[in-house]
Amino acid sequence: MVSSPPDPAFLECLANRLGPRGFTADPADIDPWTIDWRGRVRGSAVALLSPADTAEAADIVAMCAAAGVPLVPQGGNTSMVAGATPPANGSALILSTRRMRAIRSISAADGVAVVEAGVVLADLHDAAAVHGLRFPLSLAAKGSATIGGLVSTNAGGTQVLRFGPMRALVLGIEAVLPDGSRFDGLSALRKDNRGYDLRQLLTGAEGTLGIVTAASLRLVPAIGRRAVAWAGLDSPQAALALLRRLEAATGEAVESFELVPDDALDLVIRHIPGSRAPLGGAHRWHALIEATAPQGAADPADALGQVLGQAMADGGVGDATIAASEAQAEALWRLRESISDAERADGMAAKHDISVPVSAMPDFILSARVAVEAAFPGTRVIAFGHLGDGNVHFNVRAPAGIPATGAEGMAWLAETGAAVSRMVNDLTVAAGGSISAEHGIGQTKLAEYARLADPARLAAQQAIKAALDPRWLMNPGKLVPR
Ligand SMILES: Cc1cc2nc3c(=O)[nH]c(=O)nc-3n(C[C@H](O)[C@H](O)[C@H](O)COP(=O)(O)OP(=O)(O)OC[C@H]3O[C@@H](n4cnc5c(N)ncnc54)[C@H](O)[C@@H]3O)c2cc1C
Repeated sequence: MVSSPPDPAFLECLANRLGPRGFTADPADIDPWTIDWRGRVRGSAVALLSPADTAEAADIVAMCAAAGVPLVPQGGNTSMVAGATPPANGSALILSTRRMRAIRSISAADGVAVVEAGVVLADLHDAAAVHGLRFPLSLAAKGSATIGGLVSTNAGGTQVLRFGPMRALVLGIEAVLPDGSRFDGLSALRKDNRGYDLRQLLTGAEGTLGIVTAASLRLVPAIGRRAVAWAGLDSPQAALALLRRLEAATGEAVESFELVPDDALDLVIRHIPGSRAPLGGAHRWHALIEATAPQGAADPADALGQVLGQAMADGGVGDATIAASEAQAEALWRLRESISDAERADGMAAKHDISVPVSAMPDFILSARVAVEAAFPGTRVIAFGHLGDGNVHFNVRAPAGIPATGAEGMAWLAETGAAVSRMVNDLTVAAGGSISAEHGIGQTKLAEYARLADPARLAAQQAIKAALDPRWLMNPGKLVPR
C-alpha cells in the first residue's frame, strides 16, 4: 500500500504533459475536491489532474502506473459513500473528468448518444431533448453528477422501475485500464457474445478498474405527456398493492413510484420554504406516481385517474390528487426530492440505502423500524424512496437536538450510528437484501461490506481487481476490501 505523496520531480512530468489547464498543485484549487458531498470524510491530495481527452488520460494513467502512484477518479463528487474522496495520507492524485465534456454524437436512428465521462447528466438531458429524445435516468444530483460517475456507480434514480439502472442503459464504454491501455468498446451493438463483458465489469466498478472516458448510452423517445399524482395510504402494503394495480391497468406507463412516510412529509413542510401538504386529512403513508406516454398516445392522466378513483372507492387509497399543471407536477416532485435536505436541516441521521425483494419490502419497513427504534431509544426511522424497485433509504434519525454537523453529531454517528448501521445491515442481509442498492460501497460502507459479503463474491472481486490492477493503484480503499 502506497503511503506517501508522489515526489516533486514526478509531479513536474505530469504538469508538463497536461499543461496549466490540466494540472494544479494549488491547495485552493484542490481542497474543495478532497471532501465528500456529505462533508463527513476528508482526504488529501497534492495535485489535481484534469486531462482534456482520452489520449491525455491514457498517458497520465500509464505514467502513474509506471511510477506506482495511486489515482482517484472523480466526476461531480456527489458520491454518497465518499467514493471519489482521496485517502487522507495524500498518497493519491485526483484525476478529474471536468474537461472531458464533449457530446460526441447523438443518433436518432440508433437511439444512442456517445458522450464523454465529464458530461453532466442535466446537459445530456438537454442535448437529447433537441433531437426529440431523452436519456431515461434522472436523480436529484443531475446538475452535478457526471456520466463517468453514473456509469461507475451503476446509478439508479426515479425511472429504474421502467428503464432499469445504468447497467441497462450503457451500450458501450471507452476506458483507460489501470496499466494505461485503452479499451475501445463504444460500438453500441445490441447483440455481442464475445465472452466476459468489460462494459458491464466497468459499470459499477467505482473507478477501481480504470477510468471510464466515454460511454454509448441508450436514448428513448421524448415524453409526449406525463401525469403526476400523489396518493394518501394506510401502509406500505397498500402502496405496493396500488403499484401493482396501476401496472396491470397501464402497462409500462408508470415509470416512477416513490414511497413517502408522513414524518418525511412533515419534515419537508417544516424545513423547506414554500412546501405544503398535497392532500387534506392525515395519511400515514404517501405515494408519488408518475406515468408517461409518447407523443400522440392517450393522456396517461386518464388511466391514472381511473385506477386511483377505483382504489379510493374500494378503500385501497385514502385520498389522491393528480397535478393539473406542470407547475403542480414539479411541486409534487419537489416534496419528494427535498426529503434529504429537510432531514439534514432537522438533525443527524445514520443513512442506509438498502434493497430487499420487492414483495418483502413493505413488511421489512415496518418490522425493521420497530426493531431499530426499540434497540436505540430516541431514534426515529424514516424509510422512503423507490418502493417498486425494492429499494428504500432507511434513515435512522438521531434523538432530537443532535445536529447534522459539528462534533456532537459526528460523535453520535461514530458511536451509536455505527451500531445502528450494523443492525440495519444485519436485518437487510437476513431478509436476502443488499446493503447498497444505489450508492455503491465507496469507503464508508467498505468495512460493513467486508463483514457481510459472501466470501465467494469477495474472493472473485479481489481476483479481478488483482488481475487488472496488480498494485491496487486505482481508487485505493474503495469497493474491494484488500
Ligand atoms: C442529492 C443527491 C441525490 C442522489 N440520488 C441518487 C439516486 O437517486 N440514485 C443513485 O443511484 N444515486 C444517487 N446519488 C448518488 C450518485 O451515485 C451520484 O450522484 C452519481 O452517480 C455520481 O456521479 P459523480 O459524477 O458525482 O461521481 P463522483 O461522486 O465523482 O464519483 C463516484 C464514483 O465513481 C468514480 N468515478 C467517477 N467518475 C469516474 C470515471 N470517469 N471513471 C471511473 N470512475 C469514476 C469515483 O471514483 C467514485 O468511486 C445522489 C447523490 C446526491 C448528492
